[in-house]
Amino acid sequence: MNLLEKEQLIAAKADEFESSTPQEIIAWAVETFPNITFACSFGAEDVVLVDMLQQISPSTDIFYLDTDFHFQETYETRDAIAGKYGLEFVRVSPKLTPEEQAAQFGEELWKSDPNACCNVRKVEPLTRVLGGYEAWITGIRRDQAPTRANAKKIEYDAKFGLVKFNPIANWTSDDVWNYIREHELIYNPLHDRNYPSIGCEYCTRQVMPGEDPRAGRWSGSDKTECGLHK
Ligand code: SF4
Repeated sequence: MNLLEKEQLIAAKADEFESSTPQEIIAWAVETFPNITFACSFGAEDVVLVDMLQQISPSTDIFYLDTDFHFQETYETRDAIAGKYGLEFVRVSPKLTPEEQAAQFGEELWKSDPNACCNVRKVEPLTRVLGGYEAWITGIRRDQAPTRANAKKIEYDAKFGLVKFNPIANWTSDDVWNYIREHELIYNPLHDRNYPSIGCEYCTRQVMPGEDPRAGRWSGSDKTECGLHK
């Protein structure tokens, strides 16, 4: 399928998908684009999508970006979910180890230049892995942040050059947690300790009552996104 054909397909499905369930969108996505992958960060949204994918298309690749800086709880959540479903997450790692990064850019790059750190540990690895696929699935939701408010359930991701599916773009946080409880899913225990949004340990803090759910990400800087989503 060339780019024009993909754009025509996206235009034809965008409105229809607004009233489709996430499961319907995932089923269509994996059938239309067998060479598809799901980007999992083991947050609440992603454990929902892992569960849906295991029902619909258990052979679909699921990868995660291992920045080397995740919380121990996140790695344990990864292992628990892998064990539950009998699946193997594809680990995608940065070209530089933490030590090599420190030697090249200085200690604690996440403090001195978080965008550079995210580029090394997230954006370059993501670009590399997505280069092998025609489409990807993400767990982003429109009400997570103003930068995500216009996310479509199907769109062309010009930054990485492939089709992007956001099957739960219109879900609220309550929708996510209702699904998790109803299906008794494994989730990152940090969510129960005031971490609604979980990234690298160095750049994530607890959120206080009344704060925006993403206030704990890159707290104290004006950075709000890793650079993975436009
Ligand atoms: Fe580095 Fe922080 Fe980005 Fe993780 S979230 S890659 S530690 S700047």
